[in-house]
Formats: sequence, structure tokens, C-alpha cells
Amino acid sequence: MSFRDIGSAERPLRIAIVGAGPAGIYAADALMKSEAEVSIDLYERMPAPFGLIRYGVAPDHPRIKGIITALHKVLDKDQVRLLGNIDYGTDITLSDLRRFYDAVIFSTGANADRALNIPGIELDGSYGAADFVSWYDGHPDVPRTWPLHAQKVAVLGVGNVALDVARVLAKTGDELLPTEIPPNVYEGLKANKALEVHVFGRRGPAQAKFTPLELRELDHSPTIEVIVDPEDIDYDEGSEAARRHSKQVDMVANTLEQWAIRDQGTRPHKLFLHFFESPAEIVGDDNGKVVGLRTERTQLDGTGNVKGTGVFKDWDIQAVYRAVGYLSQAAPDLPFDERTGTIPNEGGRVLAESAGVGRFLPGVYVTGWIKRGPVGLIGHTKGDANETVACLVADRPHLAPPAEPDPAAVVDFLTARGIAFTTWDGWYRLDAHERSLGEPEGRERVKVVERADMLRASLVGGGVR
Ligand SMILES: Cc1cc2nc3c(=O)[nH]c(=O)nc-3n(C[C@H](O)[C@H](O)[C@H](O)COP(=O)(O)OP(=O)(O)OC[C@H]3O[C@@H](n4cnc5c(N)ncnc54)[C@H](O)[C@@H]3O)c2cc1C
Repeated sequence: MSFRDIGSAERPLRIAIVGAGPAGIYAADALMKSEAEVSIDLYERMPAPFGLIRYGVAPDHPRIKGIITALHKVLDKDQVRLLGNIDYGTDITLSDLRRFYDAVIFSTGANADRALNIPGIELDGSYGAADFVSWYDGHPDVPRTWPLHAQKVAVLGVGNVALDVARVLAKTGDELLPTEIPPNVYEGLKANKALEVHVFGRRGPAQAKFTPLELRELDHSPTIEVIVDPEDIDYDEGSEAARRHSKQVDMVANTLEQWAIRDQGTRPHKLFLHFFESPAEIVGDDNGKVVGLRTERTQLDGTGNVKGTGVFKDWDIQAVYRAVGYLSQAAPDLPFDERTGTIPNEGGRVLAESAGVGRFLPGVYVTGWIKRGPVGLIGHTKGDANETVACLVADRPHLAPPAEPDPAAVVDFLTARGIAFTTWDGWYRLDAHERSLGEPEGRERVKVVERADMLRASLVGGGVR
């Protein structure tokens, strides 16, 4: 990268974006397309960019992973640098960033599981979906092995993450081998003993949060028999209204109805979709291991909501995955709303926490899941970014200029701190390395898992581009 000659009144606006997931990258894109002349540094705690596209989207969704190709074009631009392997809060603080930038946009997303408060959550064999997803997506900061000894598994939740988890648990290791899964994940999945996967939703088919495409995809695996109990197909007035109002809801309900009335096939792995069963307790044995799940039957109350019937059922289950939503985490020096899991903001402008400092934290913005909460698809983060960037650009006259706007200054600062940061050129090297690992097996890539290996592949060659 050629450093711009900055320091004059004409200098471009210096912007730090923290979090190189889709929201952060779309924000960089929106900034470059705005009327402002900008120079952007995109900070990322992982050695590689792309956030949950790399570490959340399921490996058997190559079409979605392909969104990375479009994001590449943004990061290829001269006005943007990637500074990876840098953790905001540990390696760099808000006051550090204020020294170097006119404004900071936080797009730190979400990476943890939302809590589910039922007895037995702490048992051995009760897992958060986010941890499992991180494992099968080769995240460097989670253990390399995953216990897959259970023959009967429960997945709690009726969103797309629950579908991902259920599908990966029900597929064979060999079905997933052509994807980018790393060797430790292939070995783990090959040893998977699951024969039955039971997905539980406390409400009905018209309240499920699945998207139609992802739901229908369950049926495409030659090893998965999807089973829906006809007793679980039920609608009230609220449900019918929801179907009329949303084509997506109607399509999901239609698919589930078709599955409920068809004859059962002979595919070896059974994937049950249960509705109107509210998880009440994860049951353990004397050794603290999961041996069952207790659910309470629910029924519709007329509005599309459900109430308990007092009828409980025990399911023979040896592992439970909670897929009831992701959760963002608070970041140092920024306000955080624990209830919504967001940084409080208006249109992307971060609200000041204490009275007397003005309504907004000057020069601080948010976008993506940390702005709006952990729901919605990658494409939705584009709209978030556009709104946030419009606010930032409008605020330009009021932004306090940083003490050291020269792009070289922050690089000197990071180097002096001894931070081994990765760069966009480094991503190209890691990308090429992962592709070369896949080539002998005819696979597009094999993911590198170890952080040290990622750094080794990225950092060879150095440079700050
Ligand atoms: C399991 C799962 C599967 C999904 N599958 C699909 C799908 O198939 N299709 C689809 O359209 N959407 C899918 N989504 C949704 C999609 O991933 C999100 O809409 C999108 O990733 C949100 O973007 P984001 O940039 O806000 O957050 P993220 O993607 O989470 O990116 C945030 C980035 O910030 C970084 N970061 C966090 N904290 C710090 C810090 N302190 N310092 C520096 N960097 C930091 C993170 O490492 C990460 O790279 C899925 C989501 C999940 C959880």
C-alpha cells in the first residue's frame, strides 16, 4: 500500500472500523461510495477477515460462503487496509483509536450463545450451538475435538442456526468432506454416533423462524429422513394471519405439512422436527451426564402465542444443543444493553451513557449485529451500514480531528506494541495456502485452524497492505 500524504487540511477522513465481518466490510464500502474522501483501517481480532461468513455459515453452504468474493472487491480498494489479529479492548483501546482517527465504527457482531434458563443446562452433554458451530467451522479459539458419542440428540430452537446444527449432526462425515472442513472436524464427524436428531420448538409451524430454502435443504441429504408428526401441524387465527401476511411463513408451513403427510422413507439418520414442545428440563444421571430431555406440551392461544398444557414428556436423549440465539458481548469503554445484546444507538450513532456529555458519544458509531441485535441474514447488514455511514458523513463538520491522522502513525504504534498484525496481502497468502491444501483432494480449500498456522501463512512476506 502506498501511504497517502496526509496532514493537510485536505486530508481524507480517517476512519477505524472494528470488526471485519460483513457489516464492517459493507460499512467500508458505503464510506468509499459516499461523498467523503476516506482512508479506512479495518480492525479484526481474528487473523482472517469475514466474521461469521467464515466462522458461522455452515461448511455445506458454499453459495453463502461465496459472498466473500463480493467482499474481496471492497478490501481490494486502496482506501482500505486490513489490520487483523488485533483485539479491540486488549491490543487497542478507544482512546488509542481517537488519537489516530476522526471516527470509529464498531461492527463486532455476536459470537456467544443466548442463555436458556432451564434446569440441567450445566450438565455434561448440554452444549451451546455457537460453540459447536465454531468447532465445525474451524475457529482457532475452541477445542479441536468435539464429543459426538450420543445416538439421540436434541436441538432446541427453530431458527436457521438450529437447522445448521441439526443438519451437520445428521449428515455423515463423508458428506461434508468435499467442503472446507479441516481434518480434525472430518475425523470428529466421521466418529459421530448420532442416529436420531430431534429439533424442538415451543410454538407451531407458523411460528418457526426457518427460511424456506434452508428448511427444504434438510431433505436433500441422501442420509437424512426428515420426519414431522401430523399432530404438530396446528394453526390458530394468529397463525393463519401470519401465513397470509408473510409468504415465507406460508412456504415454511406448507413444507412442514407436506412432510407430515408423506410416507416415511428408509434413510438411515432420522431428523425429527417437533412443534408445541417447550423444553422444561435437561435431565442428568448421577454422574452429571445428560440422559434425557423433559418437554411440556403447549397449545396455541388464538393469537399465535402458546400456553403450557401441564402435560410433560420425557425424551431419551444423550446430548442437547441450545440454538436459541446468538448474543453479542460488551466491549470496553462502550455502553451495552444486556437485554438486547446491542450497543445502544440511534441510526448507528452510539448513545452516551452518562448525563451531561451530550446525547451521543462523539465520533463513535455501530453497525451490523452489534447495532441491531443478532438476527437476520448477511444481506441485511448492508442496510445497517448504509444508515450508519449516512449519519457519520452528516456529522463530518463536528468530528474532532485526531492528533495523529497519518496512516503510518498507527502502524508505528502497533509495531511498537509488538502486535503481530495480519494484513489484506496476508489474507491473500492464507487464502492461497488453504486452496493449495484442498487441491490434491479436488476440494476448493481446507481451512487452517491453528492461530499460529494462520499467522505463519499470513505473515510471511510482511508489509502493511
Ligand atoms: C451459525 C450461523 C449461521 C449463519 N448462516 C447464514 C447463512 O447461511 N446465510 C446468511 O445470509 N446469514 C447467515 N448467518 C447470519 C450472518 O452470519 C450475520 O448476518 C452476519 O455475519 C452479521 O454480520 P456482522 O458483521 O454484524 O457480525 P460478524 O459476522 O459476527 O462479524 C463481526 C466481526 O467482528 C470481530 N470482532 C468481534 N469483537 C472484536 C474485537 N474486540 N476486536 C476486533 N474484532 C472483533 C469478529 O471476530 C468478527 O469477525 C448465520 C449466522 C450464524 C450465527
